[in-house]
Amino acid sequence: MERSHHLQGLLILLVVVAIGGLYLWQNSQPSIVVSVPAATPTAPDAPPSDWQAALEAQLAIASTPLPTPDLDMPAFVPPTLPPSAEPDVEVIEPEAIPGSPWPTPTTAPTDVAPTITGPTPFPSPTGVFVAQNNEPVGFEPPPEQVPLGQHADDHFWLVRPVDASANSESLFYYPFGSDGPGNDYRVHHGVDMPNPIGERIRAGGSGTVVWAANGATLADREDLDMYPSYGNVVIIEHDFGYRGQKIFTLYAHMSAILVEEGQRVEAGDIIGLIGGTGDVSGPHVHLEVRLGENRYFSAVNPLLWIAPYIETGVVAGRVTYADGTLADDVLVTLSRRGRVIETTSTYIRPRQPGQTRDWTVVPDPAWQENFVLGDVPAGEYDITATIGERRITSTITVKAGTTNFVTLGIDPAATPQPADAPDES
Ligand SMILES: [Zn+2]
Repeated sequence: MERSHHLQGLLILLVVVAIGGLYLWQNSQPSIVVSVPAATPTAPDAPPSDWQAALEAQLAIASTPLPTPDLDMPAFVPPTLPPSAEPDVEVIEPEAIPGSPWPTPTTAPTDVAPTITGPTPFPSPTGVFVAQNNEPVGFEPPPEQVPLGQHADDHFWLVRPVDASANSESLFYYPFGSDGPGNDYRVHHGVDMPNPIGERIRAGGSGTVVWAANGATLADREDLDMYPSYGNVVIIEHDFGYRGQKIFTLYAHMSAILVEEGQRVEAGDIIGLIGGTGDVSGPHVHLEVRLGENRYFSAVNPLLWIAPYIETGVVAGRVTYADGTLADDVLVTLSRRGRVIETTSTYIRPRQPGQTRDWTVVPDPAWQENFVLGDVPAGEYDITATIGERRITSTITVKAGTTNFVTLGIDPAATPQPADAPDES
Protein backbone atom coordinates (compact mmCIF):
# COMPACT_ATOMS: atom_id res chain seq x y z
CA MET A 1 0.00 0.00 0.00
CA GLU A 2 2.81 2.42 0.77
CA ARG A 3 4.47 1.82 -2.57
CA SER A 4 1.43 2.51 -4.73
CA HIS A 5 1.06 5.84 -2.88
CA HIS A 6 4.53 6.86 -3.95
CA LEU A 7 3.74 5.97 -7.61
CA GLN A 8 0.59 8.07 -7.57
CA GLY A 9 2.46 11.13 -6.28
CA LEU A 10 5.16 10.67 -8.94
CA LEU A 11 2.59 10.50 -11.77
CA ILE A 12 0.87 13.70 -10.62
CA LEU A 13 4.21 15.50 -10.48
CA LEU A 14 5.05 14.37 -14.06
CA VAL A 15 1.70 15.63 -15.42
CA VAL A 16 2.15 19.04 -13.78
CA VAL A 17 5.68 19.35 -15.17
CA ALA A 18 4.50 18.37 -18.67
CA ILE A 19 1.69 20.98 -18.71
CA GLY A 20 4.02 23.71 -17.44
CA GLY A 21 6.63 22.84 -20.08
CA LEU A 22 4.06 22.99 -22.88
CA TYR A 23 2.91 26.45 -21.72
CA LEU A 24 6.43 27.78 -21.58
CA TRP A 25 7.19 26.35 -25.05
CA GLN A 26 4.21 27.96 -26.68
CA ASN A 27 4.97 31.43 -25.18
CA SER A 28 8.57 31.25 -26.17
CA GLN A 29 7.73 31.19 -29.93
CA PRO A 30 9.29 34.12 -31.91
CA SER A 31 6.95 37.11 -32.75
CA ILE A 32 5.28 37.01 -36.15
CA VAL A 33 6.12 40.09 -38.20
CA VAL A 34 3.26 41.19 -40.53
CA SER A 35 4.28 43.34 -43.46
CA VAL A 36 1.62 45.43 -45.28
CA PRO A 37 2.40 46.56 -48.81
CA ALA A 38 2.33 50.35 -49.31
CA ALA A 39 -0.57 51.87 -51.26
CA THR A 40 0.05 52.38 -54.90
CA PRO A 41 0.19 56.13 -55.58
CA THR A 42 -2.45 57.41 -57.98
CA ALA A 43 -1.57 59.76 -60.71
CA PRO A 44 -2.98 63.30 -60.11
CA ASP A 45 -4.79 63.43 -63.44
CA ALA A 46 -6.02 59.86 -63.29
CA PRO A 47 -9.81 59.60 -63.61
CA PRO A 48 -11.60 58.72 -60.36
CA SER A 49 -12.46 55.17 -59.83
CA ASP A 50 -15.98 54.00 -60.29
CA TRP A 51 -16.75 53.77 -56.56
CA GLN A 52 -15.38 57.24 -55.97
CA ALA A 53 -17.50 58.67 -58.75
CA ALA A 54 -20.59 57.00 -57.40
CA LEU A 55 -19.88 58.33 -53.91
CA GLU A 56 -19.37 61.86 -55.10
CA ALA A 57 -22.59 61.70 -57.11
CA GLN A 58 -24.57 60.64 -54.01
CA LEU A 59 -23.02 63.37 -51.91
CA ALA A 60 -23.91 65.93 -54.56
CA ILE A 61 -27.59 64.89 -54.53
CA ALA A 62 -27.85 64.77 -50.76
CA SER A 63 -26.33 68.18 -50.28
CA THR A 64 -28.36 69.98 -52.92
CA PRO A 65 -29.92 72.98 -51.15
CA LEU A 66 -33.69 73.65 -51.47
CA PRO A 67 -34.54 76.37 -53.92
CA THR A 68 -34.99 79.74 -52.08
CA PRO A 69 -37.46 82.08 -53.69
CA ASP A 70 -36.44 85.67 -53.95
CA LEU A 71 -39.46 87.60 -52.55
CA ASP A 72 -37.90 91.01 -52.73
CA MET A 73 -39.05 91.86 -49.14
CA PRO A 74 -38.32 95.21 -47.58
CA ALA A 75 -35.69 95.53 -44.96
CA PHE A 76 -36.67 94.28 -41.50
CA VAL A 77 -38.26 96.94 -39.31
CA PRO A 78 -38.77 96.25 -35.60
CA PRO A 79 -42.41 96.52 -34.53
CA THR A 80 -43.51 99.67 -32.79
CA LEU A 81 -46.53 100.33 -30.48
CA PRO A 82 -49.42 102.01 -32.19
CA PRO A 83 -49.61 105.69 -31.50
CA SER A 84 -51.43 106.09 -28.10
CA ALA A 85 -54.48 108.26 -27.72
CA GLU A 86 -54.68 111.05 -25.16
CA PRO A 87 -54.88 109.44 -21.68
CA ASP A 88 -58.28 109.82 -20.04
CA VAL A 89 -56.76 109.32 -16.55
CA GLU A 90 -56.57 112.47 -14.50
CA VAL A 91 -53.28 112.77 -12.77
CA ILE A 92 -53.76 114.22 -9.26
CA GLU A 93 -50.87 115.72 -7.49
CA PRO A 94 -50.44 114.32 -3.95
CA GLU A 95 -51.13 117.63 -2.29
CA ALA A 96 -54.38 117.95 -4.21
CA ILE A 97 -55.89 114.63 -3.11
CA PRO A 98 -59.14 115.50 -1.39
CA GLY A 99 -59.83 114.18 2.11
CA SER A 100 -56.29 113.21 2.92
CA PRO A 101 -56.54 111.18 6.12
CA TRP A 102 -53.19 112.34 7.38
CA PRO A 103 -53.20 116.08 7.56
CA THR A 104 -49.90 117.62 8.24
CA PRO A 105 -49.76 118.71 11.88
CA THR A 106 -49.51 122.43 12.14
CA THR A 107 -48.66 122.54 15.83
CA ALA A 108 -46.21 120.62 17.90
CA PRO A 109 -47.66 118.07 20.34
CA THR A 110 -48.17 119.34 23.84
CA ASP A 111 -48.12 117.70 27.22
CA VAL A 112 -51.62 118.84 28.03
CA ALA A 113 -53.65 115.87 29.22
CA PRO A 114 -56.86 115.18 27.29
CA THR A 115 -60.02 116.43 28.90
CA ILE A 116 -61.83 113.59 30.61
CA THR A 117 -65.55 113.91 30.23
CA GLY A 118 -67.09 113.25 33.58
CA PRO A 119 -70.55 112.09 34.44
CA THR A 120 -73.36 114.36 33.36
CA PRO A 121 -76.11 115.13 35.83
CA PHE A 122 -79.41 113.66 34.79
CA PRO A 123 -82.22 114.15 37.28
CA SER A 124 -84.69 111.34 37.49
CA PRO A 125 -88.40 111.69 38.26
CA THR A 126 -87.88 109.90 41.54
CA GLY A 127 -85.31 112.30 42.85
CA VAL A 128 -82.25 110.11 42.36
CA PHE A 129 -80.10 111.13 39.47
CA VAL A 130 -77.23 109.32 37.99
CA ALA A 131 -74.77 109.66 35.19
CA GLN A 132 -75.61 109.76 31.51
CA ASN A 133 -72.00 109.20 30.63
CA ASN A 134 -71.13 105.83 32.05
CA GLU A 135 -67.71 105.53 30.46
CA PRO A 136 -65.15 104.22 32.94
CA VAL A 137 -62.60 106.85 33.82
CA GLY A 138 -59.76 104.62 32.74
CA PHE A 139 -56.75 103.42 34.62
CA GLU A 140 -56.63 103.96 38.34
CA PRO A 141 -53.79 102.88 40.62
CA PRO A 142 -54.55 99.84 42.76
CA PRO A 143 -56.15 100.50 46.13
CA GLU A 144 -54.28 100.14 49.35
CA GLN A 145 -54.55 96.84 51.16
CA VAL A 146 -57.14 96.62 53.89
CA PRO A 147 -57.33 97.08 56.75
CA LEU A 148 -55.30 100.26 56.56
CA GLY A 149 -54.78 102.61 59.46
CA GLN A 150 -51.95 105.10 59.74
CA HIS A 151 -53.89 107.37 62.07
CA ALA A 152 -55.47 106.07 65.26
CA ASP A 153 -58.90 106.99 63.94
CA ASP A 154 -58.44 105.63 60.42
CA HIS A 155 -60.71 102.69 59.64
CA PHE A 156 -60.07 101.86 55.98
CA TRP A 157 -61.34 98.32 56.34
CA LEU A 158 -63.26 97.92 53.09
CA VAL A 159 -62.14 97.26 49.55
CA ARG A 160 -63.83 99.00 46.66
CA PRO A 161 -67.12 97.62 45.35
CA VAL A 162 -65.78 97.76 41.76
CA ASP A 163 -62.43 97.04 40.15
CA ALA A 164 -59.75 99.70 40.04
CA SER A 165 -60.19 99.86 36.26
CA ALA A 166 -63.86 100.74 36.69
CA ASN A 167 -65.19 104.03 38.01
CA SER A 168 -64.92 103.93 41.78
CA GLU A 169 -65.19 107.67 42.30
CA SER A 170 -68.21 108.93 44.16
CA LEU A 171 -70.41 111.20 42.09
CA PHE A 172 -69.12 114.60 43.14
CA TYR A 173 -72.40 116.41 42.59
CA TYR A 174 -74.40 113.97 44.69
CA PRO A 175 -72.07 113.08 47.53
CA PHE A 176 -72.97 111.44 50.80
CA GLY A 177 -75.15 113.79 52.83
CA SER A 178 -76.14 115.91 49.85
CA ASP A 179 -79.59 116.63 48.47
CA GLY A 180 -78.23 117.42 45.03
CA PRO A 181 -77.22 120.67 43.39
CA GLY A 182 -80.83 121.81 43.21
CA ASN A 183 -81.59 120.89 46.83
CA ASP A 184 -84.65 119.02 45.65
CA TYR A 185 -83.59 115.38 45.90
CA ARG A 186 -83.62 112.99 48.81
CA VAL A 187 -80.66 113.30 51.12
CA HIS A 188 -78.06 110.77 50.02
CA HIS A 189 -77.07 108.19 52.59
CA GLY A 190 -74.55 106.48 50.36
CA VAL A 191 -72.27 107.14 47.42
CA ASP A 192 -72.96 106.39 43.76
CA MET A 193 -70.39 104.96 41.37
CA PRO A 194 -71.67 105.11 37.78
CA ASN A 195 -70.50 102.19 35.66
CA PRO A 196 -71.72 100.26 32.64
CA ILE A 197 -74.32 97.58 33.14
CA GLY A 198 -72.57 94.29 33.82
CA GLU A 199 -69.53 95.68 35.60
CA ARG A 200 -68.73 93.42 38.53
CA ILE A 201 -69.69 94.42 42.08
CA ARG A 202 -67.47 93.08 44.85
CA ALA A 203 -67.97 92.51 48.56
CA GLY A 204 -66.31 95.24 50.60
CA GLY A 205 -65.18 92.80 53.26
CA SER A 206 -65.72 89.33 54.65
CA GLY A 207 -69.08 88.53 56.15
CA THR A 208 -72.46 86.93 55.62
CA VAL A 209 -75.12 87.94 53.10
CA VAL A 210 -78.20 88.97 55.06
CA TRP A 211 -80.25 90.21 52.09
CA ALA A 212 -80.06 89.23 48.44
CA ALA A 213 -83.30 90.14 46.66
CA ASN A 214 -85.16 92.99 45.04
CA GLY A 215 -86.04 95.78 47.43
CA ALA A 216 -89.67 95.49 46.39
CA THR A 217 -89.84 91.96 47.73
CA LEU A 218 -92.58 91.81 50.31
CA ALA A 219 -90.46 90.43 53.08
CA ASP A 220 -91.55 91.00 56.64
CA ARG A 221 -88.14 91.97 57.93
CA GLU A 222 -87.97 93.99 61.09
CA ASP A 223 -84.21 93.80 61.36
CA LEU A 224 -83.33 95.96 58.37
CA ASP A 225 -84.51 98.88 56.27
CA MET A 226 -85.38 97.92 52.72
CA TYR A 227 -87.06 99.92 49.98
CA PRO A 228 -88.27 99.20 46.45
CA SER A 229 -86.14 102.11 45.19
CA TYR A 230 -83.00 99.98 45.76
CA GLY A 231 -83.97 97.55 42.99
CA ASN A 232 -81.89 94.38 43.26
CA VAL A 233 -79.85 94.78 46.40
CA VAL A 234 -77.40 92.83 48.55
CA ILE A 235 -76.56 93.54 52.19
CA ILE A 236 -73.55 91.99 53.91
CA GLU A 237 -73.14 91.80 57.67
CA HIS A 238 -69.40 91.89 58.20
CA ASP A 239 -67.29 89.72 60.43
CA PHE A 240 -65.79 92.81 62.04
CA GLY A 241 -67.38 95.64 63.94
CA TYR A 242 -66.41 99.08 65.10
CA ARG A 243 -66.44 100.18 68.72
CA GLY A 244 -68.72 97.31 69.60
CA GLN A 245 -71.14 98.05 66.75
CA LYS A 246 -71.94 95.89 63.74
CA ILE A 247 -70.99 97.02 60.25
CA PHE A 248 -73.19 96.36 57.23
CA THR A 249 -72.56 97.25 53.60
CA LEU A 250 -75.37 97.62 51.07
CA TYR A 251 -75.05 97.45 47.25
CA ALA A 252 -78.09 98.58 45.26
CA HIS A 253 -79.48 98.72 41.69
CA MET A 254 -77.85 95.46 40.53
CA SER A 255 -78.74 93.98 37.16
CA ALA A 256 -77.98 90.54 38.60
CA ILE A 257 -77.56 89.23 42.14
CA LEU A 258 -74.91 86.51 42.29
CA VAL A 259 -75.11 85.49 45.96
CA GLU A 260 -77.79 84.06 48.22
CA GLU A 261 -78.96 85.03 51.66
CA GLY A 262 -76.89 83.24 54.28
CA GLN A 263 -73.88 82.85 51.96
CA ARG A 264 -70.39 83.55 53.26
CA VAL A 265 -68.31 86.03 51.25
CA GLU A 266 -64.76 87.27 51.42
CA ALA A 267 -63.47 90.73 50.56
CA GLY A 268 -63.46 91.16 46.80
CA ASP A 269 -65.86 88.32 46.01
CA ILE A 270 -68.20 89.10 43.14
CA ILE A 271 -71.70 89.46 44.56
CA GLY A 272 -73.55 90.99 41.60
CA LEU A 273 -73.42 93.09 38.46
CA ILE A 274 -73.96 96.80 37.91
CA GLY A 275 -77.46 97.64 36.77
CA GLY A 276 -80.20 100.19 36.79
CA THR A 277 -82.94 98.48 38.77
CA GLY A 278 -85.01 100.51 41.22
CA ASP A 279 -85.15 104.27 41.16
CA VAL A 280 -82.39 105.27 38.79
CA SER A 281 -82.10 106.73 35.35
CA GLY A 282 -78.66 105.27 34.67
CA PRO A 283 -76.65 102.28 35.82
CA HIS A 284 -74.54 102.61 38.95
CA VAL A 285 -73.90 100.98 42.30
CA HIS A 286 -75.25 102.76 45.36
CA LEU A 287 -73.06 101.86 48.32
CA GLU A 288 -74.02 102.31 51.94
CA VAL A 289 -72.03 101.60 55.09
CA ARG A 290 -74.47 101.06 57.93
CA LEU A 291 -73.02 101.25 61.41
CA GLY A 292 -74.67 99.72 64.45
CA GLU A 293 -78.12 99.06 63.04
CA ASN A 294 -78.98 97.77 59.57
CA ARG A 295 -80.91 100.98 58.92
CA TYR A 296 -80.98 103.66 56.28
CA PHE A 297 -80.51 106.34 58.94
CA SER A 298 -77.47 104.58 60.41
CA ALA A 299 -75.42 105.04 57.25
CA VAL A 300 -72.04 106.77 57.50
CA ASN A 301 -69.83 108.10 54.74
CA PRO A 302 -68.30 105.14 52.83
CA LEU A 303 -65.33 107.26 51.74
CA LEU A 304 -64.02 107.02 55.32
CA TRP A 305 -64.19 103.20 55.20
CA ILE A 306 -62.85 102.36 51.73
CA ALA A 307 -59.05 102.18 51.49
CA PRO A 308 -57.82 104.97 49.23
CA TYR A 309 -55.69 104.37 46.17
CA ILE A 310 -51.94 104.14 46.57
CA GLU A 311 -50.35 107.61 46.72
CA THR A 312 -53.67 109.20 47.60
CA GLY A 313 -55.32 110.12 50.86
CA VAL A 314 -58.72 111.13 52.15
CA VAL A 315 -59.60 114.67 53.24
CA ALA A 316 -62.28 115.04 55.87
CA GLY A 317 -63.27 118.15 57.72
CA ARG A 318 -65.71 120.29 59.57
CA VAL A 319 -67.13 123.50 58.30
CA THR A 320 -68.79 125.42 61.12
CA TYR A 321 -70.75 128.59 61.55
CA ALA A 322 -69.60 131.28 63.94
CA ASP A 323 -71.57 129.65 66.76
CA GLY A 324 -69.69 126.41 66.26
CA THR A 325 -72.56 124.44 64.78
CA LEU A 326 -72.00 122.41 61.64
CA ALA A 327 -72.67 124.40 58.46
CA ASP A 328 -74.92 122.53 56.04
CA ASP A 329 -74.82 122.48 52.25
CA VAL A 330 -71.68 124.58 51.97
CA LEU A 331 -69.50 124.28 48.86
CA VAL A 332 -66.01 122.97 49.64
CA THR A 333 -63.30 123.31 47.00
CA LEU A 334 -59.89 121.68 46.97
CA SER A 335 -57.45 123.42 44.66
CA ARG A 336 -53.78 123.31 43.82
CA ARG A 337 -51.98 126.36 42.46
CA GLY A 338 -55.31 127.87 41.54
CA ARG A 339 -56.63 124.79 39.76
CA VAL A 340 -59.68 123.08 41.24
CA ILE A 341 -59.00 119.41 41.96
CA GLU A 342 -62.21 118.31 43.68
CA THR A 343 -65.38 119.81 45.03
CA THR A 344 -68.07 118.59 47.38
CA SER A 345 -70.66 120.02 49.74
CA THR A 346 -71.21 119.70 53.46
CA TYR A 347 -73.92 117.40 54.80
CA ILE A 348 -77.51 118.49 54.80
CA ARG A 349 -78.98 118.66 58.28
CA PRO A 350 -76.05 116.98 59.97
CA ARG A 351 -77.08 115.23 63.10
CA GLN A 352 -76.25 117.44 66.05
CA PRO A 353 -75.27 116.01 69.42
CA GLY A 354 -78.26 114.74 71.32
CA GLN A 355 -80.42 114.20 68.22
CA THR A 356 -81.90 110.79 67.57
CA ARG A 357 -82.67 108.97 64.39
CA ASP A 358 -84.49 111.02 61.81
CA TRP A 359 -83.70 112.43 58.41
CA THR A 360 -80.39 113.77 59.57
CA VAL A 361 -77.02 112.66 58.28
CA VAL A 362 -74.75 110.80 60.64
CA PRO A 363 -71.14 111.98 60.94
CA ASP A 364 -68.48 109.36 61.42
CA PRO A 365 -68.08 108.41 65.09
CA ALA A 366 -64.33 108.89 64.84
CA TRP A 367 -64.17 112.12 62.87
CA GLN A 368 -67.42 114.05 63.43
CA GLU A 369 -66.93 115.51 59.96
CA ASN A 370 -69.45 117.12 57.69
CA PHE A 371 -67.63 116.62 54.39
CA VAL A 372 -65.24 114.07 52.88
CA LEU A 373 -63.16 114.12 49.70
CA GLY A 374 -61.80 110.77 48.52
CA ASP A 375 -58.72 109.77 46.51
CA VAL A 376 -56.82 113.03 46.79
CA PRO A 377 -53.24 112.71 45.47
CA ALA A 378 -50.70 113.44 48.20
CA GLY A 379 -49.46 117.02 48.19
CA GLU A 380 -50.14 120.61 49.20
CA TYR A 381 -53.57 122.11 48.62
CA ASP A 382 -55.73 125.10 49.33
CA ILE A 383 -59.13 124.19 50.69
CA THR A 384 -61.95 126.69 50.63
CA ALA A 385 -65.42 126.70 52.12
CA THR A 386 -67.88 129.22 50.74
CA ILE A 387 -70.47 130.26 53.34
CA GLY A 388 -72.77 132.80 51.82
CA GLU A 389 -70.48 135.61 50.69
CA ARG A 390 -67.64 134.43 52.88
CA ARG A 391 -64.77 132.37 51.59
CA ILE A 392 -62.71 130.61 54.24
CA THR A 393 -59.44 129.19 52.93
CA SER A 394 -56.85 127.05 54.62
CA THR A 395 -53.85 125.12 53.41
CA ILE A 396 -53.62 121.39 53.92
CA THR A 397 -50.89 118.83 53.36
CA VAL A 398 -52.50 115.61 52.19
CA LYS A 399 -50.61 112.48 53.17
CA ALA A 400 -51.27 109.24 51.34
CA GLY A 401 -53.03 106.32 52.98
CA THR A 402 -54.63 108.24 55.82
CA THR A 403 -57.42 110.61 56.73
CA ASN A 404 -56.32 114.25 56.58
CA PHE A 405 -58.56 116.40 58.74
CA VAL A 406 -59.18 120.11 58.37
CA THR A 407 -61.40 122.55 60.21
CA LEU A 408 -62.88 125.52 58.39
CA GLY A 409 -64.94 127.87 60.46
CA ILE A 410 -66.03 131.43 60.69
CA ASP A 411 -63.94 132.85 63.48
CA PRO A 412 -65.89 135.71 65.10
CA ALA A 413 -62.58 137.35 65.99
CA ALA A 414 -61.60 137.39 62.35
CA THR A 415 -64.69 139.25 61.25
CA PRO A 416 -63.50 142.22 59.19
CA GLN A 417 -63.78 145.48 61.08
CA PRO A 418 -65.32 148.56 59.52
CA ALA A 419 -62.85 150.54 57.49
CA ASP A 420 -63.23 153.58 59.78
CA ALA A 421 -62.50 151.61 62.94
CA PRO A 422 -59.74 153.06 65.04
CA ASP A 423 -56.38 151.49 64.46
CA GLU A 424 -55.27 149.83 67.68
CA SER A 425 -51.68 149.40 66.72
ZN1 LIG B 1 -77.06 106.48 45.69
